[in-house]
Amino acid sequence: MPTINLQTPVEDLTRVGKTIATRLHTLGIQTAQDLLLYFPFRYVDYSKVTTIEHLVSGEPVTVRGVIELIKNRRSFRRHTYVTESLVRDHTGSVKIVWFNQPYLVKILKPGDEVYISGELDGDKDGPQFISPLYEKAKEETIHTARIIPIYPLTKNISQKQLRFLISQVIHLAQDIEEWLPEYLIKKYNLSAVFFAVQNIHFPQSNKVLDSALYRLKFDELLRQQVKVQYNKLQSAHLRARSLATKIEYVKKFVSSLPFTLTKDQKIASWQILQDMEKDIPMNRLMEGDVGSGKTVVAAIAALNCALNRGQAVFMAPTEVLALQHYEKISKLFKDFDVTVALITRTKKIIQGESATKAKAYKKIEQGEVDVVIGTHAIIAEDIRFKEIGLAIIDEQHRFGVEQRKLLIKKSHDIKCTPHFLSMTATPIPRTLSLMLYGDLDISIIREMPSGRKKIITKIVLPQERRDAYEFIRERVAHGEQVFVVCPLIDPTDALGVRSVTEEYEKIQKEIFPEFRAGMLHGKMKPQAKEDAMNDFKVGEIQIMVATSVIEVGVDIPNATIMFIEGAERFGLAQLYQFRGRVGRSDLQSYCFLFMTNFSERANQRLHALLLAKDNFELAKIDMELRGPGDVYGVDQSGFPEFKLAKLTDVAIMQEAHRCAQEILALPQEKYPKLWSVIHEDIRSIHPE
Ligand code: ADP
Ligand code: MG
Repeated sequence: MPTINLQTPVEDLTRVGKTIATRLHTLGIQTAQDLLLYFPFRYVDYSKVTTIEHLVSGEPVTVRGVIELIKNRRSFRRHTYVTESLVRDHTGSVKIVWFNQPYLVKILKPGDEVYISGELDGDKDGPQFISPLYEKAKEETIHTARIIPIYPLTKNISQKQLRFLISQVIHLAQDIEEWLPEYLIKKYNLSAVFFAVQNIHFPQSNKVLDSALYRLKFDELLRQQVKVQYNKLQSAHLRARSLATKIEYVKKFVSSLPFTLTKDQKIASWQILQDMEKDIPMNRLMEGDVGSGKTVVAAIAALNCALNRGQAVFMAPTEVLALQHYEKISKLFKDFDVTVALITRTKKIIQGESATKAKAYKKIEQGEVDVVIGTHAIIAEDIRFKEIGLAIIDEQHRFGVEQRKLLIKKSHDIKCTPHFLSMTATPIPRTLSLMLYGDLDISIIREMPSGRKKIITKIVLPQERRDAYEFIRERVAHGEQVFVVCPLIDPTDALGVRSVTEEYEKIQKEIFPEFRAGMLHGKMKPQAKEDAMNDFKVGEIQIMVATSVIEVGVDIPNATIMFIEGAERFGLAQLYQFRGRVGRSDLQSYCFLFMTNFSERANQRLHALLLAKDNFELAKIDMELRGPGDVYGVDQSGFPEFKLAKLTDVAIMQEAHRCAQEILALPQEKYPKLWSVIHEDIRSIHPE
C-alpha cells in the first residue's frame, strides 16, 4: 500500500471502492483526516473478558474461545437464515445465534479462535449470545474485547466497516497539529490533541476516554467562545442611540394600568430603561414564567423609545400572538402620542385602520409609525425603517441570531444599532445563554402577579372522561371558557389519536350542543384564525378546540380549563406552555391531561408536570428526561459546530469561557499557530 497521510483521499485506502467512497462522502468524509475527525457518539464497554463458566446475563462482556461448530439453518416461519454456533473455552461452552448473516459460515470455521462480545441472553433454550460482535483472536482487536466506539451512521455503511477504516488511519492522528500553546494545555489540564483523537476512537480505558472527550469538547467550546467573545469585543464600538427615560410618562403609563406592577416587573423595567439610556446597545433577555407579565414590561420599554421618537419593533412568533400584542398595546398607548402598527404577512394595520402594504411601509420608512408590532414578516419583507431604536423579540428561542442581524440592517440610520430585548418563558441556563449569545444581561421575573391561584393539574383516566366533561359543563355555565388541545389537525390512521376537526364536531354536536365551540389550527386562513380568536376573546365561543398553535403567549384571562388530548405526544415544556394559557386571572384554573396511549414512561413524564414547582424546576426535569437539545429546540439548527459538546457540559463550558478570555488577550505575533486557527474561525462567521 502506498504511504498515506492526513490528506489522502478515502478512495485510496484499502477496501474502499467507488461505492463506499461515495457513501463516505455523504457523511462529509473525504480524506483520512476527515475519518479521524468523525467521532463516535457513544461506546459500549466490552473490555471485560471472562470465562464461559463465569458468564452472567445482562451485562456487556467478551469471551475468548474456539469455534466448535457453526452451521446455517433456514427458519421456517420467517424465511430467514439463522446461523448457530457453539464456542468453547477451557471452562465450558456457550451457544451463539446470528440472524440473516449466512456468510458467517465462510468467515468463521470450526477450530478458529475468536472473541465474542455481547450480552448473554437467557431463554427457554438456555443462555446464549444473540447477534454478538465477533472477531478472530489477535493482539489488537477493533470490534471486540475493548471499549467499542459506535458512530452516527446512515444506512449502507456498517459500524464494522467504519471501525475498520478508522483503524487503518488511526496512526495518522500523531500528525494532527497541536493548536494550543503548551502553557494553556498545562494550565487547563488538557491532553494533547493527537492523543485525544486517537483515544476518542479506540480508548484503552474509560479514563483515557474521559480525557480525550474532555479535550475535544473543550476545543469545540473554546473555539465557539473565542468567536462569541471576539464578536463582543468588536461590538464594543457599536453605538446605539441613548434613549432618555421619560419618567413622567412612564409613571403615567404605569398608573393607567388596571393592576400594580409586581416588584420583579418594576426591577426589570428599571433595568431596561437604564440600559436604553446608554449609547451602547442593550442586549438583554427577560425570563419570566408564563403569565408573569412580561408584555407590559416590554410595553414600557417600547413607549419610552417611542417618546424619544425612535421606532420600536416588537416581534412575536405567531400571527395570533402578534395580533394580540397589537390590540393590547394599542389600547394601553391610547392616551399617549404614539402611533402603533401591525405588520404580518397578511395584515397591515395602522392605528386601528387597515392599510395597503405600500402605504404602511411608506409610513414606517418615514418614521410616522412609532411602534411596529408583527411577526417575522417584519424581517422577511422589504420594509425599511427610519431608525429602529429598540427591537423586542418575544419568545426569543424561536428567533435566531441571524434574524437579529438582519433587523439591524433595516434602519436607515445604520450608524446606530438598536437596543435589543428578548423575552422567553423557557428558563435558559446560564451556560446555554453563554453559548448562544456570549455575555447577555438577564432580567428574571420570578414573582407572579398577586391573586393567582395554583392551576389544579390532573391526569385523567379514560373512565373519568365523562366526569371531566360534566365538570366543564358546570364551569362554562358559570361563564368560564375552555381550551381543548389535540395533537393533530385532521384524523389519520394513528389509532385513537384525536384531531381538531373530529373533536370539534364531536364536542359541538354530541358533547356540548348547548355551548358554542370554535376551532383553531395552522391550516386555517389567517382571517379565519383571527375571527375564531376574536369570538373566543369576546365570549361568543366558550370552547376552543385547537392544535399547538395556542402554545405560546395567548392571553384569555377568562379561560380556566385546559383540556389536553394525547398529552403523551407533547414535550413537557410544551405542556407547560399549554397550561400557561389558563390561570391568568384570579379564577381557579384547571389542566386535564388525557393519554391516548398509556405508558409508564409517559405517565412518569406527565407526573413531572404535576409536581414541578415552577418552570425552572420543570426545565431541569425535562432536560434530564429528554436532553437539552430537545428542550431548547437547538439540536439540529443551534450548534452544528458541536460534534461532542453538550449543553450539559457546564463545567467544561466555564473553563472554555475563561480560556477564551485569556486567548483574546494574547499577542498575535507570539502565537501565530493559535491565531491562524482563530482567524480562520472568525472569517467563517464574517465572510465579507
Ligand atoms: P407573559 O409573561 O406570559 O407574556 P402576559 O404579559 O401575557 O404574560 O401577562 C399575563 C396576564 O397578566 C395579562 O392578562 C396581563 O395583563 C396580566 N398582568 C400582567 N402584570 C400583572 C400584574 N402586575 N398584576 C396583575 N395582572 C397582571
Ligand atoms: Mg407572553
